Amino acid sequence: MPAHDIATSQFLEPAVMTTPGAFAPLLAGLPAGIAAVAQALHGLLIHEHMAGAYGVTLTQQDRASVHIRPVAGLLGQIAARDRRPLTVGRAPASRLAGNCRHFTVLAVAALRAQGTPARARCGFGGYFGSGAFKDHRGWRRRHRDVRFPPGIAAGGRHAEGMTHMTRTYDTSEAAGTDGFFYQAIVAEELDALRAAGRDKAGNPLHVQVDRDGGAPLRCCLREARPGERLLLIAYTPPGTAGAYAERGPVFVHAERCDGYLTPHRYPPEFAHRQQVVRAYDEQGRIAAGVLAADGRQAQSVIAELLARPEVELVHLRNVGYGCYNCAVRVRTD
Ligand SMILES: [Zn+2]
Repeated sequence: MPAHDIATSQFLEPAVMTTPGAFAPLLAGLPAGIAAVAQALHGLLIHEHMAGAYGVTLTQQDRASVHIRPVAGLLGQIAARDRRPLTVGRAPASRLAGNCRHFTVLAVAALRAQGTPARARCGFGGYFGSGAFKDHRGWRRRHRDVRFPPGIAAGGRHAEGMTHMTRTYDTSEAAGTDGFFYQAIVAEELDALRAAGRDKAGNPLHVQVDRDGGAPLRCCLREARPGERLLLIAYTPPGTAGAYAERGPVFVHAERCDGYLTPHRYPPEFAHRQQVVRAYDEQGRIAAGVLAADGRQAQSVIAELLARPEVELVHLRNVGYGCYNCAVRVRTD
């Protein structure tokens, strides 16, 4: 199979963030086609920075949904507010608050559900001082990509700007120390394993108690407290493919936890650990591996590796056993 076909088929399947889960029928009710999907999403979501253009003032509570990342979580919130089909546009004040990322992941999920290969186009910002919207980096090269919101939002100068085609920019501004997203294992994915009683490798799950504490937890990126109930699961980290998609043991909470609440910060409870920062390219192949003495050094290594155009994401891994801790990407919101 030519490389192009492999890549295209990859963008037909839902991934962790774009899996609709129990809300698949809701998503399937959307009309077909890019324009129709875009139109429908504008009736469901409101951009947190565009709310004023619709005469809506978002409260702090309204803005909580901006931190929801997986599509299943977004659809759950949309359905909880209003049980009508997604084709029914909600009044602006009743739409779920989000940002460009929410329009994008929902559109990608809807298009994939319709058999249209799609993937998110990340890192497109108007804050480089040139007065135009620029790409952070040229890491998306070969496919038709989804950028949102398109210019159909009322009063959307910002939205129109985001649909402009721009040439690729190599900008290191994106690689500041707070410019990253530290990705724990998504709660919904772990819920599914707990409900099934088995991990993805088919191993039955057994609760164990971490008597002394200290086990690194990949659900909330902190160390276990003494006496906490844990599961040891076999897990394939994101961003890997083919022979590089290795599966390894990770600890997670036995019951659902709050997740990692400061995803733009290096996990403070991992900062004392030596780490290997392992970089992967767009094809999921290892692109580099660098040993870091602690969290501070790891952050500069992360910045250096994620600034490379060929690097898609990096993993933080334990030094002795090589176990995966979390993935780090360039922040896209
Ligand atoms: Zn946890």
